Amino acid sequence: RPTIVLFTRDLRICDHPALAAAARSGRPVVPLFVLDRAVRRRSARNRLSYLGDALPALREGLRRLGGDLVVRFGDTVDETLRLAAETGADRVNLSADVSAFAARRAARLREAAEAQRIRVREFPGVTVVPPGEAVPAGGDHYKVFTPYWRAWEGVRWRTPEPAPKRLEVPSGLDPGAVPQRLADSGTGPLSPHRQRGGEVEARRRMDAWLGAACADYEHAGDDLAADATSRLSADLRFGCLSPLELAAAARERTACAPFVRQLAWRDFHHQVCAAFPDLPRRDYRRRDIAWRADESGLAAWREGRTGVPIVDAGMRQLLDEGFMHNRARLITAAFLTKRLRVHWKRGGDHFHAVLSDGDIADNYGNWQWVAGTGNDTRPNRSFNLLRQSRRFDPDGAYIRRYVPELAAAAGPDAHTPWRADPPVPGYPPPLLDED
Ligand code: FAD
Repeated sequence: RPTIVLFTRDLRICDHPALAAAARSGRPVVPLFVLDRAVRRRSARNRLSYLGDALPALREGLRRLGGDLVVRFGDTVDETLRLAAETGADRVNLSADVSAFAARRAARLREAAEAQRIRVREFPGVTVVPPGEAVPAGGDHYKVFTPYWRAWEGVRWRTPEPAPKRLEVPSGLDPGAVPQRLADSGTGPLSPHRQRGGEVEARRRMDAWLGAACADYEHAGDDLAADATSRLSADLRFGCLSPLELAAAARERTACAPFVRQLAWRDFHHQVCAAFPDLPRRDYRRRDIAWRADESGLAAWREGRTGVPIVDAGMRQLLDEGFMHNRARLITAAFLTKRLRVHWKRGGDHFHAVLSDGDIADNYGNWQWVAGTGNDTRPNRSFNLLRQSRRFDPDGAYIRRYVPELAAAAGPDAHTPWRADPPVPGYPPPLLDED
């Protein structure tokens, strides 16, 4: 009897433990993706666009192995059970995931399937180290990164699984069409310069990154204008790349050690979210912060019209690319929460509606970290906007790239146009006094 492999955010064939186990068993395999009504409604259009690239690429990959991707619409649990009835499948394999939605979905699937004597098995693959494998003595998760990092380094990683050589599939099954124009639905803008998705693209980016640029990461990674980070976050978000395969390949290159550490940050937030699924809604660490309802400040921030160039550059990069450099994410999030005192959830929701890599654990975990309600050991960290601007964009090149009104502003004027004489035409005065 066949095994259904339910794909969710693991849209690849290389190092896919749930797929590899099904293929190894020698039984027929039915790869399934359900375009879940709830997910489609809530997803950012930029992520639906990425998904629209990733699904045909996955189908192509599976076809090369003699298989196919069955695509269905509706509720994931209902559609999986319907396909099980159609094919006689008595096993469902899927990758374990941590968000509240994913955990509820897996629990519902398990309950409904087991009532029909269908066995559901969850596999690793969404993180390098699965939540629960690096656990402190006497606790269920690490609350602080550095001890987590030490434990993470000490975990024995599983060996990456090669893509199956061949899949045996049941015949006579209607695979269903991969939906066209997915990004017509969903929330948020469709960014003109968003990244293309899919396993082939992702592997091309990974090879290029590991081949050369990764070695400069430590020195250039924080330089906003250099744009010298991997840009693999959306590929990891959709599982078009295996985080384990990436981390294992990077670990073989000594110069890539700082990059490997960043991948551990991703796992860190995932294990926090597994233990605290309310991460996108509630303070992880309760603090009495007097948040302000500054709707016009929030709107200016979203549009990149705060009059503070480094903030506006970051926010406009987000709208233009569905991506923002990590340093700019830190600066823009700190501006909103620490200067405007707008609640972290409002900022997190905006990021989540635009980012191609938007991920519940990483996005809201980082927002809470910046706001001081999360896992930062120094929640009252001071934040000097102009110092950040000058340090991480010393020539103002990042600012000029994304804020065309300041294209002619040379040197220091790019950071502080309010001091320019005569004033820069068409650019707003700063929302707050930034001197
Ligand atoms: P690189 O610098 O090349 O890093 C490699 C990978 O490590 C990234 O792709 C990512 O998977 C992981 N990583 C790096 N830094 C972090 C971090 N601080 N937390 C978690 N993972 C990290 N990342 C997301 O993937 N999705 C999000 O929704 C997200 N929201 C964020 C919101 C805020 C306010 C902040 C400050 C950070 C957020 N990040 C998020 C983390 C980080 O900014 C991005 O992962 C990174 O900018 C992506 O670019 P890159 O792939 O070039 O990263």
